[in-house]
Amino acid sequence: MENLRILVVDDVFTNRFLLSELIRMTGNEAVLAENGERAIEILKNQPIHLVFMDIEMPVMNGVETTQYIRKEMDPPLNLIPIIALTAHNPELFFEDFSDVGFDELITKPYSIEKIRDKIRTLVP
Ligand SMILES: [Mg+2]
Repeated sequence: MENLRILVVDDVFTNRFLLSELIRMTGNEAVLAENGERAIEILKNQPIHLVFMDIEMPVMNGVETTQYIRKEMDPPLNLIPIIALTAHNPELFFEDFSDVGFDELITKPYSIEKIRDKIRTLVP
């Protein structure tokens, strides 16, 4: 799947930069946000197909943002695929994350293969 618009939400500039480069290498476009509040603003105003969401961020963190998208936003925006960005062990934390509303989880170090794989899983 190519030519998707993918939103990267992370408060750390280097993380946003690295992920956006990897996304471009998969043939898709990256749109960047530094916190959840900005991410919601972008989702309301631009077509986005998929979201990569950091957990720990100032202003509005990844859990709060995902819950807001799932509960407060109108369909079909509330159903947008959201991938959590985390350093935690996915086997230990995935159940909690899916309860919050994440579809998938990706752990560091990020690679083009991991990114491509998650995109293929969530955007048929
Ligand atoms: Mg962070």
